[in-house]
Amino acid sequence: MMKKLEKEILELGKRFKRENQTFEKLVRQYDRIAIFRHIMPDYDALGTQLGLYHFIKDNFPNKEVIVVGDNHVTFTPRLFQEMDKVNDSWFDTPFLAIICDVGAKKRIADPRFEKGEKIVVVDHHPKVEDLATFDITDTTKSAAAELMVSLLLNWKGKYVWSKESATNFYIAMVGDNGRFQYSSTNSHTFKIASHLIGCGISLNEIYGAMYLKNIDDLKVTAYILNNFKVSPQGVAYYVLDEKVQQELQITTERGKENVNLFSNIKGINIWCSITQDTDPKEPCWRISIRSREYVINGVATQFGGGGHAQASGAKINTLDELPEFIAALDALID
Ligand code: AMP
Repeated sequence: MMKKLEKEILELGKRFKRENQTFEKLVRQYDRIAIFRHIMPDYDALGTQLGLYHFIKDNFPNKEVIVVGDNHVTFTPRLFQEMDKVNDSWFDTPFLAIICDVGAKKRIADPRFEKGEKIVVVDHHPKVEDLATFDITDTTKSAAAELMVSLLLNWKGKYVWSKESATNFYIAMVGDNGRFQYSSTNSHTFKIASHLIGCGISLNEIYGAMYLKNIDDLKVTAYILNNFKVSPQGVAYYVLDEKVQQELQITTERGKENVNLFSNIKGINIWCSITQDTDPKEPCWRISIRSREYVINGVATQFGGGGHAQASGAKINTLDELPEFIAALDALID
């Protein structure tokens, strides 16, 4: 599809001109490409990874392209195809590694990215380290998918945009910006959405698959509404320990699903889910933090995590650290 690009998309193309030209050149040059993203993947991580996978396969059917990392506990296979299971030997022949939605080494879902002859990172999180041949990082984008699609639209070759690729990218983008709700949404976001909708995607099918719940899910919501706490400065939080997760029949990864129950409540300024993770490799309490206006990623970093200004992740080792964590968030609020 060749058409005139919107002003906002052209501006992004100009800003990353040199890196994006190299990105296009590398994708054309390499016959073997591996696409990575972060651990405990969300819509944006998986959708960007798979949107890019389909984009490359649609336009270069003879290339060998693989997607690696852990599958999602509920989104796979309902929304996203399964990841490839790839032997170590695959990574011994030169390949291009593309890493989506993450720039921190320890958060990349498959450490074999390091074997890439060239490594490209496309991310919208604050940059924490140099790990790639080059990175294209733009923290003003509402999702990694928004950035990726804009970069691809600025490529100079003629490319097809399939419904499958566009569907994955759209799921990724609306998953991270809360269906255009969060402050990172701007006119560039809508231009990208308009392009993806123009590729023939079905919003009805997409939103049905993303947001339809089971009746049993209401029991989880009920538990949280009956047990959440609010600190003096309006930090709301709920705790799901191992026993409660078993009673509610949910996995640890699903603990944060309800965090945004508190997003539009007057008097609640910051809200968190706190979920016990009994994985013997790293037993801890995983925390998801969200806010409307307060910048929370400093506290997230202080407590073993990081993320965006209004959406971050952190962890504590025991519940004894919880009062200190909540006090740190309280201290952000005037
Ligand atoms: P979560 O609450 O897990 O959905 O994470 C919210 C946002 O923070 C996502 O964009 C994550 O990628 C990011 N994030 C979560 N944990 C970390 C971490 N340890 N370091 C950096 N970013 C993180």
